[in-house]
Amino acid sequence: MSVLVFTENWDGKFKKLSFELISYAAGVAKMAGTGVTAVSIGRVDESELKKLGNYGANRIIAVTNDQLSVLDNQAYASVISEIAVKENANIIVISNNNTGKAIAPRLSVRLKAGVGSGVSRLPLNLNPFTVYKRTYSGNAFAHLVIKSDVKILTLAQNSFDLAETPGNSCVIESMNVSVDGSLLKTTVKDVQKQTGKILLTDAEVVVSGGRGMKSPDNWGPLTELASLLGAATACSRPVSDEGWRPHDEHTGQTGKIIAPNLYVAVGISGATQHLAGISSSKYIVAINTDKDAPIFEAAQYGIVGDALKILPKLVDAVKELKK
Ligand SMILES: Cc1cc2nc3c(=O)[nH]c(=O)nc-3n(C[C@H](O)[C@H](O)[C@H](O)COP(=O)(O)OP(=O)(O)OC[C@H]3O[C@@H](n4cnc5c(N)ncnc54)[C@H](O)[C@@H]3O)c2cc1C
Repeated sequence: MSVLVFTENWDGKFKKLSFELISYAAGVAKMAGTGVTAVSIGRVDESELKKLGNYGANRIIAVTNDQLSVLDNQAYASVISEIAVKENANIIVISNNNTGKAIAPRLSVRLKAGVGSGVSRLPLNLNPFTVYKRTYSGNAFAHLVIKSDVKILTLAQNSFDLAETPGNSCVIESMNVSVDGSLLKTTVKDVQKQTGKILLTDAEVVVSGGRGMKSPDNWGPLTELASLLGAATACSRPVSDEGWRPHDEHTGQTGKIIAPNLYVAVGISGATQHLAGISSSKYIVAINTDKDAPIFEAAQYGIVGDALKILPKLVDAVKELKK
């Protein structure tokens, strides 16, 4: 038995989720009495690769084929399955984000593997292989038994604490894989990267706006507060549906799942579908005119009042503190 992890990087730097995946895989490997092999695809330098060792990877397979420099789900699934077979891996851990959700079913077909999607805890049992996942927007949980020889687990983002493993030894190997050209069905002609924006899923502080912000023209003080706090900005789904904010800011059941240390919810009612994406935040601060809004049940701190009046005051207060 061995545990294989598909890591993700952005511009050669590992996303925080990669360290979570390795920490989780190390926990599974410990239960199974085996090691963790991490797969990195794309150009990542050695000092960055070594960081995976700090969280429990024992081997790192770095795939650097130029054909794979841009994410292609079909090709990536083919490469990961080839490595899984070579490595005799029978547990494969990937993220439950959009990339993972595209790769997991393809891998599942290739490896005839059962998928436990959105797991958030270590397996309850290895025999039978039983995993825990939250369901119905976090209102219930399920115990899922996976009976296939190879098991794929997609880990809910921000659901597992990073666990450093001091003294862990780790070997890095480069691998040139064979990429079946017929799988590369899309050609990326142009990549426009967002710069200077904090990645929402990695952010420690998030300032988020809902329909209570009334208009996209009112976002100035919210973004100013975010920038003063070194925070990422987010929003509720209707806000991105209305085109007030970009879709990549939408958090919740159908959006991003985040778990920052601090989530400031401004003019957000706290519907279950929204809470499904943010309820793992360490501290939630809510600003809402309605004292009975459900967000106050999830929040540790709250201000009942008009966000459009409160935000400028908060901005001034933070500026004062920073002087
Ligand atoms: C299948 C499905 C999936 C969904 N997925 C998601 C999802 O992923 N994410 C998501 O967010 N939603 C999702 N939704 C929608 C969700 O049910 C809610 O409709 C949505 O979260 C409400 O957004 P909101 O809180 O911004 O708006 P509203 O419900 O309109 O709430 C606005 C809040 O602002 C307050 N307010 C008004 N004026 C002010 C003011 N001046 N100052 C301060 N507060 C003020 C109000 O009291 C109210 O609480 C989903 C729905 C369905 C059916």
